[in-house]
Amino acid sequence: MRLNCITPPYILSRLLDSDNQAIREAALNTLLTTARLRGQRDVRGPMAAAVATPGDGRRTIFDCKHGTYLPRARIARSEGDEPVSDAPVNRAYDGFGATKDFYHDVLQRNSIDDRGMQLLGYVHRGTRYNNAFWDGQEMVFGDGDGQVFTDFTGSLDVIAHELAHGVTEHTAGLEYHNQSGALNESLSDVAGSMVKQWSLKQTADQADWLIGAEVFTPDIDADALRSMKAPGTAFDNKLFGKDPQPDHMDRYVDLPDTDEGDYGGVHINSGIPNKAFYLVASGIGGNSWEAPGHIWYESLKASTVDTQFQDFADTTFAKAGELYGVGGPEQEAVRAAWDGVGITLTPPKNPRGR
Ligand SMILES: [Zn+2]
Repeated sequence: MRLNCITPPYILSRLLDSDNQAIREAALNTLLTTARLRGQRDVRGPMAAAVATPGDGRRTIFDCKHGTYLPRARIARSEGDEPVSDAPVNRAYDGFGATKDFYHDVLQRNSIDDRGMQLLGYVHRGTRYNNAFWDGQEMVFGDGDGQVFTDFTGSLDVIAHELAHGVTEHTAGLEYHNQSGALNESLSDVAGSMVKQWSLKQTADQADWLIGAEVFTPDIDADALRSMKAPGTAFDNKLFGKDPQPDHMDRYVDLPDTDEGDYGGVHINSGIPNKAFYLVASGIGGNSWEAPGHIWYESLKASTVDTQFQDFADTTFAKAGELYGVGGPEQEAVRAAWDGVGITLTPPKNPRGR
């Protein structure tokens, strides 16, 4: 089964070296669970078969009550229900709502598949589970170990990041390894940050551009999982080391295409296109979800399973020209942004042709 997890494997593996036994055990259990789920054929919830039915992004949040077998989870809140007493249920419900509304209002997309796919969320999965994931049909949230990680429903950009993996799956289908995988990761961060900025009505200048600022407990010295504005600076602490993300092609990290290698560093090299999007948004100015978001979304739809950084950069330049005018400030901001991360756009073969 394909799993898109929010917690990068390099953080969990560093926690295996912690002096604190409880932290080590929670990290190990999370890593083992994730590996086991990847090997399973089916652990889906009872409604998974119904998700193909158009539902205008109808939300259902289930409570796993610390179990791991999704079919046993109970419905905690359905579309239109009043808030319940359990905060993670309401946060998942509201996070799904904000993400669905963003796609609908800003990008005119009807839920993840653009056909009204239902949004299913499972909270309180397992005990001390340090992850949240999208499995292609539903989003599942752990509560965190309470020492390093807190409950994963607290971060709107994490929720939007995971649902955006579904959007990518239903559009370009970028393969989850090496550069196409890092692009896949980056496009989820871009969507995650845009949904947060849109919901807070923040301009590109006002936004913090952090991903997962809320996933750590207050005891942990880390700003977030990642910084799109300054990749490589989200954390630097004794417990899990320094943020390994590069912000330029000169620092691209070559890693093996294995589970341990983060499939060629998909959560690491995503720093490069993340920084490019931040540079476009700050170069154009105003709201990231306007011109920058539309250029990126149209480029996602024009991409394929094996699109590489260079291909994507060239596509964003072409889309900026189509949408906002050839040679306009948007197109120039796109060129400058990719230059800023060490990617020079491919010159057109026939400059006078289209
Ligand atoms: Zn992801």
